Order: sequence, then C-alpha cells, then structure tokens
Amino acid sequence: VNEAFLGVDIGGTQTKLALVFVGGETRLLDGIPTQARSGPGEFFKRLHAQLAAVLPDEQPVAAGLSVAGLVDRAEQLAAAPNLGAFVGAGLREEWEARFEIPLRCIENDVQCAMYGELMAGAAQGQSYAAMLSLGTGVGGGIVVDGRLYRGARGLGGELGHIILDPNGPACACGGRGHVESYLSSAAIVEAARDAFADCPADLSVEEISRRAHAGDADARELLRDRGYYLGLACASLAHALNPGAIIIGGGVAGCGEYLLEPARQTLRERTMAASLVELELVPAKLGAASAAIGAAHLAKDAPAIGVR
Ligand SMILES: [Zn+2]
Repeated sequence: VNEAFLGVDIGGTQTKLALVFVGGETRLLDGIPTQARSGPGEFFKRLHAQLAAVLPDEQPVAAGLSVAGLVDRAEQLAAAPNLGAFVGAGLREEWEARFEIPLRCIENDVQCAMYGELMAGAAQGQSYAAMLSLGTGVGGGIVVDGRLYRGARGLGGELGHIILDPNGPACACGGRGHVESYLSSAAIVEAARDAFADCPADLSVEEISRRAHAGDADARELLRDRGYYLGLACASLAHALNPGAIIIGGGVAGCGEYLLEPARQTLRERTMAASLVELELVPAKLGAASAAIGAAHLAKDAPAIGVR
C-alpha cells in the first residue's frame, strides 16, 4: 500500500493542499481561499468540505498543518499579521473536532517550505541550510543537522527581521531596516515608484520582473539594488549558520537571476572567504506549494525526527 500524508498550508489568502506518498511521489490537490477574516471555525468547516471532495478514498495516514505566522512550542499561533483572526484559536482542537486524520504537527509556513525544499527541492542532500521566502512578508527557515531549527520558544527562523540598517525603512513588525523592509513585494514596488519614470498605479513585482526579463534598464537596476540587500542578508546567514545552501523562495524569487546574481556578488564581497566554501545561493524548486508539501513531509517524518 502506498500510504499518503496530507499537508495543509493556511496562507493569508490561499490555503493549499498536498499529498506526499511513502514512495516519494507528490500530488497537489485543489485548495480553498482562506478568507481569514471569517475566522478559524468557518474556515475549518470549508476545509472539511473541500477535503471530503478532493481526498482519495484511502485516507491519509497523518497530516501536517502549515500556518503563515509564528507558531510556538505549545502549537499556539503567537503572531500572524495576515491571519489575525486565527491568533489565539486552538488550531489542534479545531482540527481534531472535525477530522479523523491524526495531526502530527503545526508549524510556521516558511519552516515547512524549508523542510519541503530539504526533502524534495533545492536543498536536497544538505544537512545545513537556510531559506528566505520573499512575498507579502519575508519569512525564513533553518535546517541544522537535517532537522528544522526552532529555538527556545519555537519561534526561531524569522530571518525576514534581521536588521540590515537600524535607520532604514519601516518594517511591518514595527522595526526599521529589516530584510523585509527591502525585499517584501510591497517594499520592492515602493522602491520602484521612486525609481521608475513610467509607473502604473497597479505596479506589481510580477510586472517589474516582466520588464526586467524584457530588457528594461530601470527594472534591472532596481532588482540589482534589491539583490544587494539580499546579498547582505545572506552574508549574515553565511557567517551565523555556515549553511551548505541558502534557498530563495516566494513570489519575489520569480525575478530570478536579475535578483540572485547581484545577491551572489554582494555575498562574495561581504563574506569571509572560508564561509563561502561549499555555499550555494539558489532559487527554491517547489514553487507556491512548497509549504504544503513540506507540511506533508513533516507529518510523514515526525515519528522519526520529532517535531517539537
Ligand atoms: Zn521586521
């Protein structure tokens, strides 16, 4: 029997679903809009209906839950800018009231994405790795000795709030000059508004990326500037963690080499040579479903590696 494990990734906008089979195969299932404001009770009701519709007849052995927020060791959502109505909710209780599938973990979404990349993506074969996910916010994940690094309260890995400039632009968390202040999609669009002559009201990172790929010099220069900040963040990670790979994911990573090449250049310039040996800075491979896939892998591996 090819047993399956379910990953559920509750994002601020979309909830994504994935199955990972013991044999290693991955299958993505149709997800649902999160509609975060209506709260967890209503959400889990819709999730239940969706899973009844898309799951195969043979139920998954276990499930893992990925959440866009800080999850502590007691599985409580400690902070979640895009899932405010879920903070303080008993996610495990909500799950167990509706589903017979055992829930093996509740974990931060970028930590899940990191684990997915470790098991089935760009960090395969690594024992030490870090991930930055550049999107609406900037999240992070850390792998130490083949396992996720969590920290004293379980809140570790928030690499988006590394300080690059104490007097830099405001961050959504209330701080200043954080990685997120330079590399979230909103931060990049805001920088483009100052830099581009031709700037439509609905400018997006996708449009900036499209322009860069089409040869637009302003767009390429903007991404070179943002790549510099990404490189600074990676230099700190290289010194702090000595990872074998730093993985760049999230929607902003779609800017590709226009962002990554200048980041690599800054990384080389700002990192001690010894810490650069065996370090690669590479794009994520699993795309938007990485956290759902990683949550399923965590559910599969939890009995062997422990999760909390
Ligand atoms: Zn911050």
